[in-house]
Amino acid sequence: MASASAILAGLYLAVGAGTVVGWMTAMRVKMTAMPQMVSLFNGMGGACAAIISIVEYHSHPDGDAMYLLVVFLGLIIGSISFSGSMVAFGKLDEKIKDFSAKWLTIFNLLLLGVIICVLVVAVSSPAIFGPSVLWILLLLSLLYGVLFVMPIGGADMPVVISLLNSLTGMAAAFGGFLYHNQVMLTGGILVGSAGTILTVLMCKAMNRSLLNVIIGSFGGGGTAAGAATGDQVVKEINLTDAAILCAYASKVCIVPGYGLAVAQAQHICHDLEKQLENKGVEVYYAIHPVAGRMPGHMNVLLAEADVPYPKLVEMEDANGMMNSTDVVIVVGANDVVNPSAKDDPGSPIYGMPVIEVWDAKNIIVMKRSMRSGYAGIENPLFFHSKTKMLFGDAKETLQKLVGEVKMT
Ligand code: NDP
Repeated sequence: MASASAILAGLYLAVGAGTVVGWMTAMRVKMTAMPQMVSLFNGMGGACAAIISIVEYHSHPDGDAMYLLVVFLGLIIGSISFSGSMVAFGKLDEKIKDFSAKWLTIFNLLLLGVIICVLVVAVSSPAIFGPSVLWILLLLSLLYGVLFVMPIGGADMPVVISLLNSLTGMAAAFGGFLYHNQVMLTGGILVGSAGTILTVLMCKAMNRSLLNVIIGSFGGGGTAAGAATGDQVVKEINLTDAAILCAYASKVCIVPGYGLAVAQAQHICHDLEKQLENKGVEVYYAIHPVAGRMPGHMNVLLAEADVPYPKLVEMEDANGMMNSTDVVIVVGANDVVNPSAKDDPGSPIYGMPVIEVWDAKNIIVMKRSMRSGYAGIENPLFFHSKTKMLFGDAKETLQKLVGEVKMT
C-alpha cells in the first residue's frame, strides 16, 4: 500500500500538471475557438465524475441501493457528458460532420431505455450483473453520448453545449455525494442548475423546445451551403457609396456576428460608430442572443472594445426600432439575420427569432463571400431588394469605411 505522503505527493503532482496544461491551453486559445475549449474542458469534467464512480464502486461494491444508484448515475451522466462533449468539440472545430437519420433517433431512444433498464436491475438486484455492470453502463453511456450529439447541429449546438455542461455539473454533484464533500456537492449543483437555466433560456431564445433539439435533428430541410443562387440578383455597393449612405443617415444599426469575432474587428467597429456620431448620426448595435459561437459572445467582444453598454440593444427591442432605422450594417452575421426563420416553414431555422433587418430602409451586408453561416443554409437576405453586399474581410473593410466616412 502506498503511504499517505506518497498519495498526497501524487495528488499535488496531478493538480500541478492539470493546472499547467489547462493554463497553457487557455492562454493560447484564440477567442474564436473558445466554444471548442469549453466543450473539451467540460468533457474532462464528465470523465472525472465517471472515474470517481468506478473507483468508488470498487471501494464499496456491497453498498446499499441508494449508494449504488448514486455511483451508477454519476457513471452514466459523466460518461454521456464526456463522449458527447468530445463529439461537440469535433463539430465546433469542423472535424466531425452532422449525421442524422430517422433510425438513429429511434435507436437513441431505445439505447436510453436499455441504459435505464440496466440501471434499475443493477440497483435492485446487484448480483445479476455483478461488477461487470460498471463496464456495461460505461460502454452504453459512452455510445449514447456520441450518438445523441451526432445528429444535432447548426443553430442547435449552443443548446447542446449548455446541456452537456449541466450534465457535468450533475455528475460532479453525485461525486460530492459519494465523498461526503460539501464543496464538490455544492459546486456540482451550482454548475448543474446554472447549465439547466442557460439551456432553457437558449431554447427560448431560439424558439425551440429541448425535446425538439434533442430528438428533432437540425439541418434536414433548407438549401445546402453554397447552393446555386439561381436567377437571383446580388447587388454590391462600393466603399464611397456605403460611407455616404451611412454618414447622411439619421439612425444606423450595426448587427455584429461571428465574422466580427473572426476578423477581430470590434475596435474598428467602435471607431466607425464614433465617426458616425461625430457626424450627428445615432448609432446602436442589435445583439442576437446566439450571435457568434457562445452565449454573450458579441457582448464580450464589444465590451472589450469599450462600446458603451447602453448602445447594445437586445434583439426584441432592436426589432421594434428597425422601422425607424435608415441603414443596417450587418458585420459578419448570417444565420441571425436570415428571413427564412420567419417565412420559410421548410427551413431548418424556421421559428428561430432573428433580427428583422429587412424592416430598415437600407441594408449593407459585410462579409467575404456568398458562403453560408454556421447553420449551412442559404440566406435570402443577400438577394433582398434593400440589400447591398460589401465584400471583404470585416476588419479591412471597416477600416476603409471609417476612412471614407471621415472624408464624407
Ligand atoms: P454565422 O456563422 O451564421 O455567419 C458568420 C458569417 O461571417 C459567415 O457567413 C461568414 O461569411 C462571415 N465571416 C467569417 N469570417 C469573416 C471575416 N473575416 N470577415 C467578414 N465576414 C466573415 O454567424 P452568426 O453570428 O450570424 O450566427 C451564429 C450561428 O452560430 C447561429 O447559427 C448560432 O446558432 C450558431 N452557434 C452559436 C453559438 C452560441 O452560443 N452563440 C454556439 C455555436 C453555434 P464569409 O465566409 O462569406 O465571410
